Amino acid sequence: MKDYANADPAELEQDIKTTGFFRNKAKNIRTCCRKLVELYHSEVPRTMAELTYLDGVGRKTANVVLGNAFNINVGIVVDTHVARLSARLGLTNEESPEKIEQELVKLVPQAQWTLFSHWLIWHGRRRCVARNPDCPNCEIKKLCPRIGVSKEISART
Ligand code: SF4
Repeated sequence: MKDYANADPAELEQDIKTTGFFRNKAKNIRTCCRKLVELYHSEVPRTMAELTYLDGVGRKTANVVLGNAFNINVGIVVDTHVARLSARLGLTNEESPEKIEQELVKLVPQAQWTLFSHWLIWHGRRRCVARNPDCPNCEIKKLCPRIGVSKEISART
């Protein structure tokens, strides 16, 4: 952590250049690590409030850290796959990640919040892809209302 907090900005930018938005990310990494060292005694905190106080850490990232590193379910990660599948499966009409999460936590048992987002992300990458979902071979096609999926794709089943 200290090494990142004190890293040379140009060198850090070069190291993460391929990730996109690298200047902003490099700045956030340095500031985030400085706060971790100075405020949290070089320990990653385990609460939503403390994590989202860190630069570059929003609710989605905090949920990833809490759920996967510490097995603490305080929310559901809503990325592009979770948002897309939640709509297609008819779990929510909401569009913003925060509101989608609020709807999902009412539907899914808390003990499964972290796993649930992994299931949707996995299914979203392998089967229910954004442009051309593979409905004919989908394992959950009998359960899915296919909301927002074009009639042409839906009719293939
Ligand atoms: S049936 Fe189609 S829209 Fe529904 S989850 Fe499966 S691939 Fe996605």
